[in-house]
Amino acid sequence: MIVGGGPAGLAFARALDGAGLRIALIERQPADLLAAPPVDGREIALTHRSVATLTRLGAWAQLRPEDVSPLRKAQVLNGASRFSFAFDTAGTGEDRLGQLVPNHRIRQALFRAIDGQPGLDLITGTGVAYVGTDRAGSRVTLADGRVLDARLLVAADSRFSAVREQLGIAAEVNRLGRSMMVCRVPHEGDHQGIATEWFDHGQTIAMLPLAHRQSSAVLTLASGQIERLASLDSGALGAEITRRYDARLGRMWVVEGPHVYPLATTYARHFAATRAALIGDAAVGMHPVTAHGFNLGLQGAATLAELIKDAAVRGDDIASSLLLRRFEAVHRLASRPIYAGTHLLVGLYTDERPAARIARRATLRAGARLPMVRQTISRLLMQH
Ligand SMILES: Cc1cc2nc3c(=O)[nH]c(=O)nc-3n(C[C@H](O)[C@H](O)[C@H](O)COP(=O)(O)OP(=O)(O)OC[C@H]3O[C@@H](n4cnc5c(N)ncnc54)[C@H](O)[C@@H]3O)c2cc1C
Repeated sequence: MIVGGGPAGLAFARALDGAGLRIALIERQPADLLAAPPVDGREIALTHRSVATLTRLGAWAQLRPEDVSPLRKAQVLNGASRFSFAFDTAGTGEDRLGQLVPNHRIRQALFRAIDGQPGLDLITGTGVAYVGTDRAGSRVTLADGRVLDARLLVAADSRFSAVREQLGIAAEVNRLGRSMMVCRVPHEGDHQGIATEWFDHGQTIAMLPLAHRQSSAVLTLASGQIERLASLDSGALGAEITRRYDARLGRMWVVEGPHVYPLATTYARHFAATRAALIGDAAVGMHPVTAHGFNLGLQGAATLAELIKDAAVRGDDIASSLLLRRFEAVHRLASRPIYAGTHLLVGLYTDERPAARIARRATLRAGARLPMVRQTISRLLMQH
């Protein structure tokens, strides 16, 4: 049983195709919303590894060419300094660092990919109310009163996972008091396929390059300030974003959004319990600044699915504690350094005390001078 038909739950269900298992995927939202998810403003920067996984799952082929924008270069700016720390594909043989795809298109593509999958039952329009597991198996009670039993329960029900709580798995939860506002903005200038992350004093603003001289503007401020900006009409908001971005791409105006996301990061103490596992944001809820949440979610889903498929082929228990502990160890190794590194970065770049300002100037310049640092970051972005 998989709880949650977000991108992680859908990808996991799809990755189990061919294992010969009966799978129930339970999603609170109705099926028509899963088939045509509304725009949510998130542009997901996918690594090469994620693109390869989505291709294997049959989801990449469901995307239209206009859904995909190449990410050719990335630069980090600090305060008023004109100095930038840039990463590109030089010497890698690739022509792009990664691909940007809207989140709702990824969800739609994955939903199409699971259509007609043998052995998969989709239960939509009703959420999971209670879960319980013991050595013999797991049991789920749906909000409409139905009860389901299975050998394994997998929670993919978001960073505030209620299933995680009911399983008694503790999690580190950091509510940051800041929110992210996302909107789509056409502009006068050409972004040249370059993504910019600008840690300015008192605000963080990112511009993700989309087709047709458009960008996804991502502004992070204290939650109250974001609420105030989000209530502006689109003309005033466009002028505000142009001003806050120092008109680096000329005049901007808003054609989609704003969408507001209060920022909270989470990391579960364990990714597994008796006959249960956590995947996606339910396991690791990343800060969006390093664009790794879904990339990691996909990687974790693929890792767990592989272990389960191998066990199923051998006729072994698909929820043995050995298998689940192995999943936890592999996914912790993949996710903990990125999670911790992202926290360090966010701390360093949002601290306005003079010592922190000096430290970030020094870090940025030192990093830019060290080819190894640049290459490591580029490789992380481009993971195969
Ligand atoms: C602004 C922003 C930008 C981002 N950019 C990037 C990026 O560039 N790259 C990247 O890799 N990641 C990015 N992310 C992160 C990415 O969007 C998430 O990691 C990803 O959506 C998590 O997917 P998920 O399936 O785990 O959870 P979710 O998308 O939260 O889905 C959870 C699903 O579970 C369902 N559900 C919840 N409770 C129940 C229940 N009790 N019963 C049944 N169903 C239930 C919900 O309805 C939902 O459909 C970004 C996030 C934000 C906010």
